Amino acid sequence: MEWKYDGLSAIRAVKTGEISCREVTSWFLHEAKRKNDSLNCWLDIYEDSALAQSDKLDVKIQSGEYLPLAGMVIGIKDVLCYAQHPVSAGSQILKGYNSPFTATSVQRLIDAGAIILGRLNCDEFAMGSSNENSSYGSVKNPLDLGRVPGGSSGGSSAAVAAGTCHATLGTDTGGSIRQPAAFCGLVGLKPTYGRVSRYGMLAYASSFDQIGPLSHTIEDAALILQYMAGFDPNDSTSSNRAVDTYSDLLNTQSKKFTIGVIAETLEMSGLDPEIKAATFALLEKLKEKGHIIKEVSFPFLNHVVPTYYVLTTAEASSNLSRYDGVRFGYRATDAQTIDEVYTKSRSTGFGPEVKRRIMLGTFVLSAGYYDAYYTKGMQVRRKIKESTQELLKECDFIISPTTPTPAFAFGEKSKDPISMYLSDIFTVHANLSGHPAISVPFAGHSSGLPFGIQVLGDYFSESKLLGFSRALMELTWKN
Ligand code: GLN
Repeated sequence: MEWKYDGLSAIRAVKTGEISCREVTSWFLHEAKRKNDSLNCWLDIYEDSALAQSDKLDVKIQSGEYLPLAGMVIGIKDVLCYAQHPVSAGSQILKGYNSPFTATSVQRLIDAGAIILGRLNCDEFAMGSSNENSSYGSVKNPLDLGRVPGGSSGGSSAAVAAGTCHATLGTDTGGSIRQPAAFCGLVGLKPTYGRVSRYGMLAYASSFDQIGPLSHTIEDAALILQYMAGFDPNDSTSSNRAVDTYSDLLNTQSKKFTIGVIAETLEMSGLDPEIKAATFALLEKLKEKGHIIKEVSFPFLNHVVPTYYVLTTAEASSNLSRYDGVRFGYRATDAQTIDEVYTKSRSTGFGPEVKRRIMLGTFVLSAGYYDAYYTKGMQVRRKIKESTQELLKECDFIISPTTPTPAFAFGEKSKDPISMYLSDIFTVHANLSGHPAISVPFAGHSSGLPFGIQVLGDYFSESKLLGFSRALMELTWKN
């Protein structure tokens, strides 16, 4: 039954009265509870509030009210606030903390009729690429239980791939929506920086963070973006540009585009040979369809990962200073002085990767090294942004694999942070420059695992990006 797969089909079935919101929600509650023991993707399943929400929606629909997302069941990453529900960023430091308010992105979806099924496991404070950094245990990839689901939004990707909800919200600071989507065979969209309000999102690196959807279909991603995007007085970096009707995708589908391929990405030494071959074959198919493929150069590829880690750790060290054992969640019980409250709460509340990044970021911002690292990092970021803008003058899109490899095994990279960091080489670019980028799932690797094709577009060009991605997906994914 299609309503069990994608949100749009469920919305239509609810609209025609074929099924009620309560029935859709009950199905997913059953699936989520049944599968979570083996996957560990849901940190909490909100049975009571999800059913109460569904009943309210059913009454409204009965009385003729139009709710564009009624019937869509979603999960939210554990960094998004939902009033009177817990939020912990996958960390012990927020254990026991309940959110007093709801994130704008979540509220807008609720107002449009979406049903919130629960909160989803993630790497602690969204720092990671495998979900192995969650203090609530790692999440399994439903397509192969011996492999990671990606990170940091690993719960968000596993929950959708396992059929326990229609779609989820993730956050993407350096690839955390696109990479898990690629590892689990899903669509994952990071919108333009500023397209979606970050109010109510627990910040990692504020000038990089964006909220976006993970889903089975482009249509669901478009619908979710449409209802959560737009200016929010509570987030001064949110854009006041009008929001397009993203779900109206058909007009761009048949257009022919100029597609840039960064030579350096396909020459990268760690790139899986099958992913490389499949990307070349896809480019040939796009040419046959009438698109123009243009090889372009982006000489900064080797600088994106170091620049990302200098700047995001700096921002993280500042953002995470608020978790002091006094204001939120966990407080060490054996502290005698106020200084001990801070140090003991932070030493036991944060996990090793978060501590590593806070220390690195503090070093980067320290008086003697600020110019050498932070200022230099900002200069390189500007170059990356300018060079990307130049490329997007000649090309409609830049295409590349989303990741160098398909999902890796547990433990394969967790002992070596550098190899883990390098797995973000294709995704951090869009966060450094602020451009929108999507991962479209690709089937056909001999391992049986999916991978992703990333399409990066110009600022606020999500309509065009989604329209092209829909056509692309017909070439990459079994329909
Ligand atoms: N894997 C990247 C990191 O560890 C990206 C994380 C993210 O986008 N939140 O920083």
